[in-house]
Amino acid sequence: MKASQFLVSTLKEAPADAEVASHQLMMRAGMIKKLGAGIYTWMPMGLRVLRKIEGIVREEMNRAGAVELLMPVIQPAEYWQETGRYQSMGPELLRIKDRHDRDFIVQPTSEEVVTDIARQELRSYKQLPRNLYHIQTKFRDERRPRFGVMRSREFIMKDAYSFDRDVTSAKASYQVMAKAYRAIFDRFGLRYRAVAADSGAIGGDLSEEFQVIAATGEDAIVYCPNSDYAANMEKAEALAPSKPRGAATLALTKTATPGKSTCADVAQLLNVPLQSTVKSLVLATDETNERGEIVKTQVWLLLLRGDHDMNEIKAGKVPGLDVGFRFATVAEVIDHFGTKPGYLGPINTSRPVKIVADREVAVMSDWICGANEADFHMTGVNWGRDLPEPDVIADLRNVVEGDPSPDGKGTLAIERGIEVGHVFYLGTKYSKPMQATFLDETGKPQLMEMGCYGIGITRLPAAAIEQNHDERGIIWPDAIAPFGVVVCPIGMDRSAEVKAAAQKLHDELEAAGVDVILDDRGERPGAMFADWELVGVPHRVVISDRGLKEGQLEYQHRRDAAATKVAAAEVFGFVK
Ligand code: ATP
Ligand code: MG
Ligand code: MG
Ligand code: MG
Repeated sequence: MKASQFLVSTLKEAPADAEVASHQLMMRAGMIKKLGAGIYTWMPMGLRVLRKIEGIVREEMNRAGAVELLMPVIQPAEYWQETGRYQSMGPELLRIKDRHDRDFIVQPTSEEVVTDIARQELRSYKQLPRNLYHIQTKFRDERRPRFGVMRSREFIMKDAYSFDRDVTSAKASYQVMAKAYRAIFDRFGLRYRAVAADSGAIGGDLSEEFQVIAATGEDAIVYCPNSDYAANMEKAEALAPSKPRGAATLALTKTATPGKSTCADVAQLLNVPLQSTVKSLVLATDETNERGEIVKTQVWLLLLRGDHDMNEIKAGKVPGLDVGFRFATVAEVIDHFGTKPGYLGPINTSRPVKIVADREVAVMSDWICGANEADFHMTGVNWGRDLPEPDVIADLRNVVEGDPSPDGKGTLAIERGIEVGHVFYLGTKYSKPMQATFLDETGKPQLMEMGCYGIGITRLPAAAIEQNHDERGIIWPDAIAPFGVVVCPIGMDRSAEVKAAAQKLHDELEAAGVDVILDDRGERPGAMFADWELVGVPHRVVISDRGLKEGQLEYQHRRDAAATKVAAAEVFGFVK
């Protein structure tokens, strides 16, 4: 590739809205271009990185026995109505209509569509297990798109789905993926951790997130430096019950008109994932002024982990719930806080809790105007949008850092990470409502056991940069660099020898299968070097008249402080 024919579009300054290094550098290096909030074009330089990432993912997925297909970005709503997600998912799910007024969604993932394929195509136990995946555009109308492609609204994900005949086999399929993910992330050349994640009631231990270690990560990883124990925040909380737990408090400002915010809206408001196995009690009270006018409505969410019947919870019939808090029932809450219907005092938390809302919301009618549980619309309260973001990670440090690790092999430490992958055992969560069954040996229909496995293809370059950059720019690991080598001729317009030597080296490297770019733009050395250091090409070869006279080129790795003089033939040893 020649730079004069490519599109090298570097910038001196990053745009003002770029807060983190990866966003700034991707913009400055001309990898991405913003089109709208959370919507980016992948410019030629950035696309090369994406293609390498996809290539590695594809290779390892295929090696692990998964089969690639391509499912639509725009999906008819009816499939999402079958599983209830059309109603239960909050505004992250982009709902659209066609000219006939029919409902569609832009896929945030593809469980519904792939389950539909499975129920049509996988009819017999002989066809199981099967793993189907695609690398496709997703859209999630994130509450706070930020950090460029790290948390964008349109992004590319690799999502795979396994189908098995029973739990044992499904767990084996999950393990195959967990292993493939390690192979994938090893190949990227990034420092990462596989951390245990909360999979709700069904999953047991079968959920892991793959987190790239980075100081700017939005997630916290709780780990033990002496062993391989590592968990995400929610999981670590559940495993460290020694500390007293309070309820998370959350004050929201009431807005003028009664709205129709769903619990999913709340999840999005709080920027937390919506998990179907977590249930919430919502308690609220009005604050009035001297004239009795409502000035503020305070809302508390109590989050109950585990799968419980909401009617039983409301009736106070569920003792010892597996809750994120000690207080399981309404009666206990009232008892503990000394509150009475109509008023709730502030609930103090001695332990930070990541708030997770669910589609099932029980609203105490005494305290709030009530909610329509069937479609989960709050009718009495409209959630304020100006919620301050709690610093969950800082709070977590205070609470769990230094605690003994659950495996007893040391104490817990905390670091930040970026979630780049997630493997998850689903059970029959989707196969059941969609009746995805196969016939077993006796001809009896059985529900398929499923798992799902995601990788954030477009988030990965950003995560890689957070981990690998300096004041001059990006430093790509070889495996995912847009170009492996840049050949920089000095004074090419003046020297025919330099021009010929540069072209020759370029051609030879290309013939040897090296991703090489020849900078034939005629830039001055300083500007030329600055561009490639910003772009982050790991290997650079400089060709000059002076060097050629000595029969030498200058080789420098992006991390090296100085160049090394080498013979042309030696270059291959460095870059392959
Ligand atoms: P997050 O916690 O960051 O919101 P998630 O848990 O909602 O991510 P999953 O549903 O597990 O995401 O999707 C699989 C992968 O897709 C994630 O591990 C992440 O790498 C990627 N991903 C999710 N949301 C985004 C986004 N808004 N922008 C870019 N990548 C994303
Ligand atoms: Mg997540
Ligand atoms: Mg999310
Ligand atoms: Mg996830």
